[in-house]
This record gives sequence, structure tokens and C-alpha cells, in this order.
Amino acid sequence: MLEPVVQYHGKWPFYRFVGMQEPFSVSFSFLNFLAHYNGLLKIRDKMPARYSLRPFYVALSYIGMASWVFSMIFHTRDFNLTEKLDYFAAGASVLYGLYYTPVRIFRLDQKKPPVKQTLLRLWTITCVLLYIAHVSYLTFWRWDYTYNMAANIAVGVVQNILWSWFSVHRYQKLKKPWAAWPGLIVAWVVMAMSLELLDFPPWKGMLDAHSLWHLGTVGPTIWWYK
Ligand SMILES: [Zn+2]
Repeated sequence: MLEPVVQYHGKWPFYRFVGMQEPFSVSFSFLNFLAHYNGLLKIRDKMPARYSLRPFYVALSYIGMASWVFSMIFHTRDFNLTEKLDYFAAGASVLYGLYYTPVRIFRLDQKKPPVKQTLLRLWTITCVLLYIAHVSYLTFWRWDYTYNMAANIAVGVVQNILWSWFSVHRYQKLKKPWAAWPGLIVAWVVMAMSLELLDFPPWKGMLDAHSLWHLGTVGPTIWWYK
């Protein structure tokens, strides 16, 4: 007897496991959290305190950890509030990736020449305003899944282009395989993200495309901190 699995309010039915609505998404979110936590320990351990990019990496791990905590909460219990928190935290994390990219590529963290400090300030304000506009639109205007997805993909693709360009440029100069890593890592994340668009019914009522997308980001996160 094969009955088609139907979506309910745009979501697949899941079997609960120890009170968790989507146990695989919760577990894979936890793995991502651990990857960021490990990264943070590595930064603290290996990066000299006076290295001016250090605070940007530390912020990256904290924002990453926060977003995966909210993801774990949301996939444990899907409420209006937990969903919003997950989306806003994920949005912050994706946007921080965009914020951090030109800071790293053009070394806007450096004090000289002074124009870099001005650019950094302008870029910081731009990103903060973008985030406020994004959250305001979803909160006060419309809770819009299509817009949210499009915004995240757009911000992801811009990062991907910047990192790919940077990687090719550095690889040509240095001829070292690791010079190409950032471009490859970001490409991996974008590929994992496309899993999200497959959206097949959960295998055994538990393992779905969305959880695989969460699993797919663990590898590149570990790689990123290398
Ligand atoms: Zn999720």
C-alpha cells in the first residue's frame, strides 16, 4: 500500500524523537555548532591577539554558534517565534559572511592607509542597515519565504563570486593548493544549499532534504577554520 506523503502547511510530516520534531536537523545543527566552537578554540589558541583580523574571526564563530543554537531550537519545536529566531539568526550569519569577505580580501582591518578605516566604517554601517531592513521587512511588512530564500541566495552568491575571484587570483600567484580553498568551500556551501530546493519527503519520516543541507555545511565549516 503506497500512500503519497502530503505536505501540511508546507512542511512534511515527521516522527518525533525524544520530543524533537526533526531529530536529524537538530543533530546536524549541533554538529555545525561544534564545528564553530572548535574553530573558536583554534582561533584563541593559534591566532596571535594582536592580529587585527582576529576579532572578525571570533565574531564569525559566535554568530555561527548562535545561529545553530536557534536552528536546534526551531527544529526541536516549530513555533512562530522559534521559526523567526532561526531565520533571523541564519540571515545574520549569511550576511556576516558577506560583511567579512571584503574585510578579509581587501584587508580593511588594517590601519594603513587610513582610507581602509573609512571604508570599513562605511561597509559596517551598510551591512547593519541591510540587516535592519531585512528583519523589518519580514517583521512589519510580510513574512515572505520566497523573499527570504532569494535574499540569502543572493548574499551567498555575491560571497561566492568574491571568494572565487580571490582564490583564482591567489592561486595564480602562489601556486599552492590551499590558495584555492576559500572558493571551493563557498562553492560547496552553495551546492549543499541547492539540496534545500529538492525538498523530497523525509526518509523513514525523519531524514529530509533540509536536514541534509544542515549536514552539508558541517564539512566546509571545519575546513574553513583550517
Ligand atoms: Zn533548518
